[in-house]
Amino acid sequence: MLYEALFNSSAPPVPVPSGRAYRIDSPPENGLVTRELAGELRRVLERFAVDAGFSESNPVAFFFKPGVVGHHKCGRAADIYAVGGIGLDRWKERWDRALAHASRAPEAEEKRRITHVEQKNNLGWRLYKALQLYGRWARPDGYPLQLFGPWTRTEGPWTCISDPLLRAHRDHVHVAK
Ligand SMILES: [Zn+2]
Repeated sequence: MLYEALFNSSAPPVPVPSGRAYRIDSPPENGLVTRELAGELRRVLERFAVDAGFSESNPVAFFFKPGVVGHHKCGRAADIYAVGGIGLDRWKERWDRALAHASRAPEAEEKRRITHVEQKNNLGWRLYKALQLYGRWARPDGYPLQLFGPWTRTEGPWTCISDPLLRAHRDHVHVAK
């Protein structure tokens, strides 16, 4: 209720804007958020895109879908479902396959090489890490930092995420501010 009251008293929600090295492919209404969250996402998504080698002439695409519960009700949350035209669930499957492959490699050096190649090329994992490293997300009293996605249990910040909550975020990344 407090969040909704704050939101109702402030400016109307805005779509997350496209940047220079990235663009938003989803309809604007899929990611209507507070100006504060739009600005934070604009900053972090641009940094992710540039770090990953994208540019104005070769931007990376994101796809949002609307959420309904919790922070979504007041525009303080956003859900990213795809990056580079590929769903987060598929990026995570690819990640799991690569790490399983690495775990079977007999040499430590080969394990490191396979993992390193995947860390470089897996845009889903890279997006999650960029949101984790560069984003300033909400941490409501008594709740964990509001960044959840397919990698939360292994990469943090909330490594003790429950099975149901992890399943609920198997195909997207949720951030709130
Ligand atoms: Zn969400």
